[in-house]
Amino acid sequence: MKKTVVAGKGLYLVQGTVRWGIYDLEFETIVIIDRVGGQFLAAFLESGMSPGEKKQFLRDNCDPLWKKLCDLGVAERVFALDDAVMTISKGLDLIWVELTERCNQKCIHCYAESEPNRSITMSYDLVSQVIKEASELRFSKIQLTGGEPFLHPKIWEIINLACASVFDEVEIYTNLTLVDELGLMRLKKLEVKLATSLLGFDSESHDKCTQIP
Ligand code: SF4
Repeated sequence: MKKTVVAGKGLYLVQGTVRWGIYDLEFETIVIIDRVGGQFLAAFLESGMSPGEKKQFLRDNCDPLWKKLCDLGVAERVFALDDAVMTISKGLDLIWVELTERCNQKCIHCYAESEPNRSITMSYDLVSQVIKEASELRFSKIQLTGGEPFLHPKIWEIINLACASVFDEVEIYTNLTLVDELGLMRLKKLEVKLATSLLGFDSESHDKCTQIP
């Protein structure tokens, strides 16, 4: 199951489909780290050691990781847990939910390495729980993404639930190949925003990127 760990003042360690990201809300940056580094850091942050002990342990035993965190400018703040609680209480801006790692395309540049044979998809119950918790944390915007979100078997229930929640804005990041005219009318009525990518200046150059005609 994917997870998010509060890593410090305005810092969240978020598990993505392939890699992990350190979301720095204070400086509005996202740092991507590989799967092994993310898993280690998450387990480490969740250990019972005090912030001082964690820093000392990293300095003494995990010099490359400590140096990397220092180079990224997040080393000291990674352990300021009390301040992180204050950051949550102020409300947050955007929550980005990867509903599935599957996609009907297989773009050469895809950050999630999505393609038709991938299988992991969030259950409706889990998505509902995330939407509920995001509402309670006063996120103002939610983006539903993937993979291709319209491959989720309960995508319309999820859209309806998000639109009925307290978000100011619901956006779907989609390649738009699975949305017909009726679907577009429904989305317009719900005032859902759509984000998509045009990957070339004609169909041939576009299809070279998606690897699907
Ligand atoms: S359409 Fe998006 S999710 Fe699908 S393969 Fe391309 S970049 Fe990845």
